[in-house]
Amino acid sequence: MLLTSVFGPYAQDDEFGSRAINPMELYNNQVTRAQGAFSLRMFHRSWGIMMIQANISAPCTLLDFPTRLDFAREITGNEYDVVGISSIIVNVGKVREMCRMVRRLSPRSVVVVGGHVAAIPGLEGMIDADYIVRGEGIAWMRRYLGEDDQAAICHPAIISALGSRIMGVHLPDGPGSTAATIIPSVGCPMGCNFCTTSAFFGGKGKFVNFYETGDELFDVMCSVEARLQAHNFFIMDENFLLYRPRAMRLLERMKAAGKSWGLSVFASANAISKYTMRELVELGVSWLWMGLESPHSSYAKLQGTDTRSLTAELREHGIRVLGSTIVGLEHHTPENIEKEIEYAASHNTDFHQFMLYTPVPGTPLYREMKEQNRLLDDVDMADVHGQYKFNFRHAAISRDDSKKFLDWAFVRDFERNGPSLYRICRTMLQGWKRYKDSPDARVRERISREMGQLGSGYNAALWAMEREFRKVNRAVSEQIGELRREVQAEFGVASRVTANLLGPVLLWTTRREEKRLAAGWTYEPPAIVERRNWAAA
Ligand code: SF4
Repeated sequence: MLLTSVFGPYAQDDEFGSRAINPMELYNNQVTRAQGAFSLRMFHRSWGIMMIQANISAPCTLLDFPTRLDFAREITGNEYDVVGISSIIVNVGKVREMCRMVRRLSPRSVVVVGGHVAAIPGLEGMIDADYIVRGEGIAWMRRYLGEDDQAAICHPAIISALGSRIMGVHLPDGPGSTAATIIPSVGCPMGCNFCTTSAFFGGKGKFVNFYETGDELFDVMCSVEARLQAHNFFIMDENFLLYRPRAMRLLERMKAAGKSWGLSVFASANAISKYTMRELVELGVSWLWMGLESPHSSYAKLQGTDTRSLTAELREHGIRVLGSTIVGLEHHTPENIEKEIEYAASHNTDFHQFMLYTPVPGTPLYREMKEQNRLLDDVDMADVHGQYKFNFRHAAISRDDSKKFLDWAFVRDFERNGPSLYRICRTMLQGWKRYKDSPDARVRERISREMGQLGSGYNAALWAMEREFRKVNRAVSEQIGELRREVQAEFGVASRVTANLLGPVLLWTTRREEKRLAAGWTYEPPAIVERRNWAAA
């Protein structure tokens, strides 16, 4: 069997649906995209097909980020019974082309298409596939192969990011130097009307647990820790904290085993409110992605929450926050939207994602817009990703203006709050001051581990950022300078020496990167081939 993601390149406009505006870099695409050389850039693997490959017994090749030529070579150089193609909605043009290539180059192969692209209504008529898999794919593939679809889920060792880069410098991403991704569940029962992930795995009230208990999750994390020498875990679960019994049992096991793991999680405000700050810190939550949406939205997850106080409190405990705001909600008008964006920026989160309100196929919002006849017919699927323009008729904001407001939101957040790298340093220092003498040795160990970076490389980055911003944004430069002095007061001569030696180098790499980006430089992920059970083949 061959399991493959769609072919690249991804960060350039082409006839198959690649878009320069929508590169394969989550942060640079939709979080830090206005931050120039300070934008955090990284690639994430195609976790869905990695999970499927690890949970079937058939000889299987996984091809991630191939070129068209790589894909053609793979299907002509081997005799695959099944070619499984995983894709998101914007890449439907590439899926169509890959199905066509399989029919021509490997006509005996069965073609299976899965991932969010399967949510497109009428996909059957757009591509030449034998099967289209909607929802969770491991169980489907096991059933297709005649294997036990109820067997325990085996978790592959997944490095959370590759090709990480900031200020023109590549960050190490081998074992031991980056987080490991763990996928405890898919879907989210909150069922917000725009949410593709929730809709894809069943919608409101539904989700699929791969690991039901904290004990199972703990065992999986220990196994991945050993394989990748990871201390930090990126928990890829849309609303990890919502299921409190599992998280609290995980905490018990972490305490008993003395694990000082750091956890990066997604959670809605109502889920976070089920925990005290101490519980979050003891659980190792060091980074949290939370939907802020809008102060006037009616999403159940936000009812009764003052999101500004909540984000400030999380940061006071050293928890870096990525807030997410929607631009173009139904109540937005050209008159009130700037005020709402200003309000979003006033959260002063470490990172801020802005997304257009977008009816994506498969979601309740899409169905609602379709019923109201408000979907725009002439929008290419490749442009339905929330970072370009509306794909529906908004009552008060035009399609072209939607992009202007979205772009301005990123710029305004950056202008007001400075680079995210500076902001995470600030939050880490708050955590250090609060917990460096914590009675919990695990918490002390985690915070010290993080602070080792702040006293060295991060402080040099502060040195460079302070100088780079002097001319363009004096207020931000002064804030960065103040933080640098605080860091140096905490960490003494060594941090000062590092800043003075490494800072000028980072300033140079930052300026070189700015020039490259201005000249149109883009980044692509490397093609990866992984074979499993292959000797048996
Ligand atoms: S809470 Fe977040 S993950 Fe859950 S449905 Fe709403 S937007 Fe989706």
